[in-house]
Formats: sequence, structure tokens, C-alpha cells
Amino acid sequence: MLSKTIEKAFNDQLNKEFYSSYLYLSMSAYAESKNFSGMAHFLKLKAQEEREHALKIFDYIIDRRGTILLKDIKANITKFKSILDLFEKSYEHECNVTKLINNLITLTGKEKDYCSKAFLHWFAIEQIEEEKTSLDIVEKLKIIKSDGPSLYMLDKDLKSSNNTK
Ligand code: MG
Repeated sequence: MLSKTIEKAFNDQLNKEFYSSYLYLSMSAYAESKNFSGMAHFLKLKAQEEREHALKIFDYIIDRRGTILLKDIKANITKFKSILDLFEKSYEHECNVTKLINNLITLTGKEKDYCSKAFLHWFAIEQIEEEKTSLDIVEKLKIIKSDGPSLYMLDKDLKSSNNTK
């Protein structure tokens, strides 16, 4: 059984994972509008991955006989100035998600809920890759700057990604 505190915190995180999915979908739309179809594809996969994170939490709450509370997903009003700005925002977002997961882990410790703490371990490890992936692209874009052929190659590389791991 989940305590009310953990149940609420997990439902909040469930909502935030859906928001992440929404955010990546808006990034995908922006990339598509700039004709970076490889990046758009990569970001759409990221959106799917975030939805899977949400469903993992959804299933966990149900398995522990908790109550699911689906809330409104905040509309994304983030505007992107450029592809570099987009990936910088993606990296910033992932760093915030890492903090959220760390805070949740701290909370499970306070509540002495070691099952939930163990469950969150996967999410903490996942964030290593999430931060790295977006930062790698930011760094590449900083080297490339506005060099057309290099941007074309990076876009092509990201088109062939079938997952982000
Ligand atoms: Mg996530």
C-alpha cells in the first residue's frame, strides 16, 4: 500500500512525465517546421519515451493499490529561438527532471517506503542517459554553429535513431 503522501507525489510525477512528452512533441513540431526531419523524428521518439515513463508510474501506482489521479497536462508555451535553443531547453528540462526524481527518492526515504525507493532507482539511472543525450547534441550544435553541411549530417544521424538510449 502507498501512503497518501507517496500516492500524491507519484501522481504528480505521472503528470510531469506526460508534460515531458508534450514538451518533446512541441519540440518535434518546431524541428519539423525548420525542415530538420531527423531531429523531428528523434524528438518524437523522446516524446514516446516520456509517455512510457508516465505509464510505468501509472502501472506502479495501480500495482500498489493506489488511486490514479489524472490531471490537466500543462500546455507548452515554450518558444524556441533556434535548434540550439531547443536542445539547450531540452538539457535544462532533463536536469530539472533529475532534481524531481532525486526529491522523490528523498521523500520515499522519509516515508520509509523502500519499495517505492527501489522502483525510482530505474528513473534515476535513466536520467544519466537523458542528460547526456541532450548535452551531446548541444555540444555538437555549438561546434557546428550555422555550418549547413554539418547541420545536414547531424540531422541525418538523428533520423536513423530508433531509440534514444
Ligand atoms: Mg522521463
